[in-house]
Formats: sequence, C-alpha cells, structure tokens
Amino acid sequence: MTNEMPVIRVAVPLPIREGLDYLWAGPGPTPLPGCRVLVPVARKSHTGIVLEHPATSPVGLDKLKRATTALDEEPLIGADLRETLVWCASYYHHPVGEVLSAALPALLRRGRAAVPAPEIRWQLTAAGRETDTTALARRARRQAALLEQLATIDTAAESDLREAGYTRAQLATLEDKGWLARAATAPRTRRETVEHEPGPVPALTDDQRDVLEAIAAAAPGYNAFLLHGVTGSGKTEVYMRLIAEQIQADQQSLLLVPEISLTPQLVGRLAQRFGARLAVMHSALTDTERLDAWQRCRNGDAGLIVGTRSAVFAPLHRPGLVIVDEEHDNSYKQAEGFRYSARDLAVYRAQRLGIPVVLGSATPSLESVHNAEQGRYHLLRMPHRIGSAGAPTVRIIDLNHHAVRNGISTPLLSAIEQHLASSNQVMLFLNRRGFAPVLFCPDCGVAEDCQRCDSRMTIHSASGRLRCHHCGAERALKWACASCGAERIAVGAGTQRVSEELRALYPNVVIGRLDRDATSRRGSLESVLADLESGKTQILVGTQMLAKGHDFPNVTLVGVLNADQGLFGTDFRSNERLVQTIIQVAGRAGRADRPGEVLIQSHFPSHPLFDCLLAQDYVRFAQIGLAERRAADWPPFSHLVLWRANAVQRAAAFEYLHRLARAARALGTEIGVHGPAPASMERRSGRYRAQVLLQCARRGPLHAVVDELLVQARGWPEARKVRWAIDVDPTEL
Ligand code: ADP
Ligand code: ZN
Repeated sequence: MTNEMPVIRVAVPLPIREGLDYLWAGPGPTPLPGCRVLVPVARKSHTGIVLEHPATSPVGLDKLKRATTALDEEPLIGADLRETLVWCASYYHHPVGEVLSAALPALLRRGRAAVPAPEIRWQLTAAGRETDTTALARRARRQAALLEQLATIDTAAESDLREAGYTRAQLATLEDKGWLARAATAPRTRRETVEHEPGPVPALTDDQRDVLEAIAAAAPGYNAFLLHGVTGSGKTEVYMRLIAEQIQADQQSLLLVPEISLTPQLVGRLAQRFGARLAVMHSALTDTERLDAWQRCRNGDAGLIVGTRSAVFAPLHRPGLVIVDEEHDNSYKQAEGFRYSARDLAVYRAQRLGIPVVLGSATPSLESVHNAEQGRYHLLRMPHRIGSAGAPTVRIIDLNHHAVRNGISTPLLSAIEQHLASSNQVMLFLNRRGFAPVLFCPDCGVAEDCQRCDSRMTIHSASGRLRCHHCGAERALKWACASCGAERIAVGAGTQRVSEELRALYPNVVIGRLDRDATSRRGSLESVLADLESGKTQILVGTQMLAKGHDFPNVTLVGVLNADQGLFGTDFRSNERLVQTIIQVAGRAGRADRPGEVLIQSHFPSHPLFDCLLAQDYVRFAQIGLAERRAADWPPFSHLVLWRANAVQRAAAFEYLHRLARAARALGTEIGVHGPAPASMERRSGRYRAQVLLQCARRGPLHAVVDELLVQARGWPEARKVRWAIDVDPTEL
C-alpha cells in the first residue's frame, strides 16, 4: 500500500544535517524539487523545501511519515541555486534546511504564496543536439521524441510542451542530463514603460577604458577578475558600464556591497543610472519590500540586484554578471549560525553559472591577491585617482614626542585649524565608540568590569550609562567608587569624548559624529552624511563606518587617532585589517581637485607596517604579508576549520573539545590539530568559549575529517553540555 506513494526528501529548517524523507500522500502531482511543503517533525508542522525524489529511503518506507500539503506548484528555488545551496551545506557543514531557508525571504519561509515565475522556455543544448535519439528511443521513448521535436525549432514554451503531454519531471530529467536548457525569455515590459533619464555618463578615463577592454577581451563564460583600483579611481563607473552592457543583452547583474545603509550615495548613483531596473536587497527592508525585490529578481524584472551578504543567494533569472565591491570587507563573512563567506560564494556561483565575476577593492584581501598571482584571477589595475588632486600625502605623528589631549595631538590640532581655515572639511577616525573605554578608581586601582564578559564597561556619558560592547549589558554610570567612595576617572577616549573635546575647543565649528550610537535611529545615518555632503558639518569624528566608500570632495584632512590598536594583534589577519582600514579611511582625503593630507598618530612610528602605508604601496604590503603567511603556513597556504564550543562551565567546553581534538588526532597525521585553546575573549555573555583549530594543506582530507568527527560526536555525552559550531575558512581566530 504505502510503497505506491513516492518518497520526497525535504530540507527542514531545523538543526538536522540532512534532508528528511516523507511519503507524498497529498492531492495532485508529487511536489518538484524546490517547492515548499508542510511536513510534520515531532508533532509540529514545518515549512520545508523538497530536495529530491529518492527512489527509496534508508529509513524504511513503512516508517516514513506522510506529507500532504504542497505550497508551490512550481519550484521556488531553481535547480542551479538549489544545487549551490546543497553544496554550501556540505562545504560549511551546516544543516541543509537552515541553509535553504536562509536563501528565502522571511515571508516565504513563513508560508506566504509566491507570485508565479514567468514562463520558462526550453531549448536543446549542444549535447542535446548531438544525442543519438534512435538509441535513446529504445530506453526512453518520450525523451527521444522531445529531443527530436525541439531539434526543429529554436525554443518552446514550457506550457506548450506540457500541453503536448510532457511532464515537468521529464523536462527536469533532460535538464539534469545536460541536454535541455532554459532559454532566456523576453524581458518583462511592466517597468520598462517608465521612461528613465539616466543623467550624464562621464567619458571614461584611460584606466577605466583599459579595464573594460580587458574584461571584454576575455573568453565568454566564467572568468574571475580582481579589480585593484585605488580609492577614487572610478571603480563604480566601471561596474555601471558592465551592468549597462548586461542590461542591453537582457541579462541580470548581481552587485554585492558590504553595507548598503552606509552607502546611500552608491545606491543613489545606481538608481540614477538604472532607474526602475534596480532592485535592492538588504536587512533594513521590511519583509514585504524584501519579498518584492526577491520576486523581481526571480521573474527577471530587475536588471540589477544590489544587495548585502545574503543577496549572494538571489534567485537570478537570466544571470549575466556578478560583482563584489570592497571584496576584502569582513562583513561578507556571516559571523553567526550559517557562517558562509558571500565573497567566496559569489565566485563559486559565477563559476557554476558560467558567467564572469569581478572582485573590486582598493585593498584586496591577501587571498584574492594570491589567487591573482596564481593565475586563477585576472588582475586589473587602476592606479590613478580621478581628478587633479592625486594621492594624498601621508605622515605619522610620533605620540612619544607630542602632547595629546583626549586623543588629539598638538600637530593634528594645528593641521585641523589650517584645513578649516581654507574652508575644507576634516575627518577623524577612531575605532572606539562611547566616551571612554575604562572607568577607573585611582584609590582601589580597579576598573569597572562587565560581570558576564572578560571586558570593561564603556562609559557613555551622554546617556549616563555604562555599557558592555560585547554582551550589551548596561548599568547606570556612577562616578563614585562603590568600595571606597573616591571619584573615579575616565581613561582613554572614544568618539564621544573626542567630539566633546573639539566642541569645547572650537565652539563655532560644526562637529558631527558617525558611529553606531549616533546612527541608531532610523534616518539618522542619512542626516549625518547629508550634513557632511552639504558642507554644514566641518569636522566628522567616526569609527570604521568612515571607511566605507563615501565620496566627499571637500574633505581634505583625515586624522587617524589611534593606529596602534591593531598593531600587535594576535590574529594572523590583524595586520591586513589594520592596513586596509587605514588605507580606506585615508582614501576619503582629497578628491577631485583638492589635494588631501593624512595624519596618523602612533606611539610606534618605526613599526614596519607604516613603511607601506607611508609609501601608499598596498601591493608591497600584500607581498610581504603573503610571504609571512607562507612562512607560517597560514591561509591561503593552508586551509582552516575552527571548531568552537561554549558552556556555562569552563570545564565542560574544554572536556568536549579535548575529546574532539583526541578524535581528530586519531584520524590521521595530515591534519594539524591545535588546541583546545580559550577564545580571544574567553568569557562572553556568561559563557566560557574555547576552540580547536584544524589545519590542512588540502581541503579534501580536512572536510572528510570534519564529516567523520560530526558522526562520532553525535554520541558523546560531553556534547550535551555545550553549544558548538563549525567555522569553515574562519576570518577571526
Ligand atoms: P572608487 O569607487 O574607485 O573609490 P568612484 O567610483 O567613487 O571611485 O569615483 C570617484 C569619483 O570620480 C566619483 O565622484 C565619480 O563620479 C567620479 N568619476 C568616476 N569616473 C569618472 C570619469 N570617467 N570621469 C569623471 N569623473 C568620474
Ligand atoms: Zn558583557
């Protein structure tokens, strides 16, 4: 009885590594892979996505539960994207259902009906045309007939083929065999009726023209380009020309950017150029807006999809091009849950789709530089800034020889005054928000700590609060010491303190602040940036939010208040991060025709990192950095998997990881097993955190060991007392 019902394997958004099997017992045809179905798990109903139709189930057919409700007639997630997501689940060792649901807008995850995708048209591939249909007809008569029928025409609409009696499953089978492909459909006209005036398009610079020619000259299909263009060299214009060509050819482009909310300018420029063909996907949208952007991507209405990290899973209808702007940016790495790298996945997707990918940055990641050196990426350079200003001059202020008040040295103060006197604007960069990082009692010699983390409470004087920047804990700011009653002092300076100091010094100057505290209200970020753009703000003090692609031609001085914070980091990437941030912030100085000046305050002016910064030679920095990585056997010269665990009891985290490390060592000698070791901030939000680092020269054996460890660890009693997570290609150790 039951074995007449087909088996469907379903990805359910629960922490279960594989798909779950069900018997399809609903009305209508078996839901196709990529369709949502409601399935029972432990007496609760969940919205899952069909992965495949296995011939049978290892669980045993008589034990399978039944599924009866399908939410879609057509796959929501097409074959290409589905396979990519399944690959992601195995590469990142993450539960497949959580991975698939990460690719859907929230409303669809919750069961909302999707607008049908546009009509699909089918055509033969070269392989399909060469297939011997006579031989095929002996095994699969209908398939052979379909191939013959299509051989006489260019493309056929799916509805016509269905009317002629071919099923979706037959079409899907032929697609899987590589004999059939979806043809590009005609563009949808709804939005095109809106006339759009793209505004002036500038004549290309020589650098831009060379880059565009090199990209055009490459063979069609997958190619990866690393566009290393200094800040202000006009990378965005290059992207826009490439996107316009794709739109001309009726193909879609996917442009990934680090944080859209930080770059309203960029979205403005794209909207100006592409009008209603633009769709934007990011986390600040409402659920309805997200669903709309997703549908416009899927139905081909959008010619350009701009989005942050998760847009790498956009359901492209006619994919033509992928671009990753600021490809070095750490926000492409998802830090929680499904820990993927959108930059790496963008390259993977382009490769699968057989389309070009462009990775752009003024400070490309060492991994990408290495890929270019190895010939895997084509390196393209734009070494010149647009306009007559040229590169800014960079100098270091030796803090050992100059007085500092609340974070600002005397030479920097006089430079600020000079630049303001010539009606220019100033940016000051300090990677620390709040008033001061430490509240210290000079009598007891004690600083106020967070009770749940290994960290200090940061003083936020404006709100009269102390805040932990790691767990969010808050309490009232009391200057009197609780133990001795002495008046405590604020040590160090954050962005708040620096702005207050400047306001006291220059009461007539307008001073703005750009950090997460100053921009937490909706619309406040836009107004901070607008005040700078209009010239109202004369000095802007900010965190690394300053580093993101803003273009303000009247900013001529950039001060880096504390470069030393990152100089002696413990992570093998800390130098790279520091240099990238400083170069990006410095890149805000001097645009168009006003030359810029960059002043970096440091107690260690002879630190070798500053040589490259002063010479503004990122390429040399990258070469030195790669040589160091090679010598120490760090990525990209080895591959890493970080296995993290945390628990309320310190011993529980370590017992679990000790067992894991032993098991890993027992599995072979090719894998380096380091640890367990405490995480860089061991206690956070009341939990102790530790980790084991697995390292290998080759990916294959590393992933095999992780898979084997996952199987073994399932039965360990030690695993019950911890939360654990696997971080493949970790960016922070
Ligand atoms: P990047 O992204 O490389 O930092 P942008 O694309 O922001 O640089 O370009 C810097 C500035 O130069 C922008 O104001 C942009 O409008 C302008 N620009 C870009 N290309 C050209 C061009 N070919 N001619 C004139 N101005 C240009
Ligand atoms: Zn805390």
